[in-house]
Amino acid sequence: MYEFAVTPAVTNIRRRGVEISDVAAESLGADMELQAGDRIIKVNGRTVRDYLDFRFHTAGETELVLEVRKQNGEDWELELERGEGEDFGLTFEQIVPRQCANACIFCFCNGNPADARPSLFIKDEDIRLSFLYGNYTTLTSITEDEMRRIVEQRLSPQYVSVHATDLDVRAYLLGIEKERADISSKLARLLEAGIEVHAQVVLCPGINDGEVLRKTIYDLAAEYPRITSVAIVPLGLTRYNTDARLTAVTPEFCRNVIDQVTTIQQKLRADLGTNFALLGDEIYLRAGRAIPATSHYGDYPQIEDGVGMVRSFVNEFAKVTKRIERDANGNLQSKRGTIFTGTLFAPVLRRLVDKLNDRFGSQLIVEPIENGYFGGDVSVAGLLTGRDLLSARERVKGEFVLIPRQMLKSDDEIMLDGMRIGEVAESLRLPVHAINLDQFAGLLLQKN
Ligand code: SF4
Repeated sequence: MYEFAVTPAVTNIRRRGVEISDVAAESLGADMELQAGDRIIKVNGRTVRDYLDFRFHTAGETELVLEVRKQNGEDWELELERGEGEDFGLTFEQIVPRQCANACIFCFCNGNPADARPSLFIKDEDIRLSFLYGNYTTLTSITEDEMRRIVEQRLSPQYVSVHATDLDVRAYLLGIEKERADISSKLARLLEAGIEVHAQVVLCPGINDGEVLRKTIYDLAAEYPRITSVAIVPLGLTRYNTDARLTAVTPEFCRNVIDQVTTIQQKLRADLGTNFALLGDEIYLRAGRAIPATSHYGDYPQIEDGVGMVRSFVNEFAKVTKRIERDANGNLQSKRGTIFTGTLFAPVLRRLVDKLNDRFGSQLIVEPIENGYFGGDVSVAGLLTGRDLLSARERVKGEFVLIPRQMLKSDDEIMLDGMRIGEVAESLRLPVHAINLDQFAGLLLQKN
């Protein structure tokens, strides 16, 4: 989820330059007596708006003049020489995202409970975050300055929510007039400048599926390899989405989409040598169909969008199993605990963990948790909350609880409903570990 990628800092929006948040000891930045709270205003006379500008203006430069506004209000001009590639040792404030001006009928903000924390309502539409984190933009309100910046600073790849190449359908989905929904010239300009584009379709039953989807895939594939891939992910509805224009995604719908897109993929593979159009994992899981093989995903171009994440996890789990085999002397009998995850992924994880138990004697159980906070068909682990965990307390077995790391904010041990992991642990009276797969192996291999 994007909300973990940035912290809104609205009060900083109008301040000039970029603020330093940390200076590494014995670094170039420390030698220049830069401190957290100082702002870099210009580099070699060029304005700095954020750390991407700083990175761009300093790249390859060995002789630099920095204009700095010190935290105490003094203005410094620093002249320095640095070795080629020498790092400044500076960490900067996070980027304040630009907001979108769309009114998408499926916008995730419409699916939030009214009391959800403010960061969940950020409607980001920011080409910088697209480049840095793979966030999607619709390009509908991109400015000329931003267009030029993408090209000049090579902010490539860009991730673009296309949804449909049929203009009427795209405008309808985005809730804006056709004129603004039409991004064909902007897209062409980026592609001509050599900017790599990954496209996304949020698939809404009855709106951009069927023939509209077929046309969208082929229109985008006509630009391959400049458009590298299109990710097709299903509409997600929470209990708060009450828009009558939206229809929930069903297993049958998913099966039909798989059948349709598989045929298209075969043709594209023959013509282009790539599947190009990749379906989100959720579509296979909801359909009850097997997740495709590794080769299906190429180099996993849109894995962060949940496209190939399950296949990648299964592959990584096999490596973890090998590592355990090598380092645990085949015995994990003392490892007894409960692994919580989302309902959709739980059957996949349970199969893997059951095999691990059979092989090494561990007693780990996988328990799916319903999402009580958002409700609806929200079933991914990343949107589970502390209260969801506590509601499943009777199912806890063993001496510890494991939850996926993505349930926590990226920079804090806090969950979407504001509960801290320590509170959950206290309430369950057991250690609760939020882990990734690598940490899972480490935990199992730890001596008791
Ligand atoms: S582009 Fe659409 S889905 Fe994304 S934040 Fe804006 S309104 Fe919401």
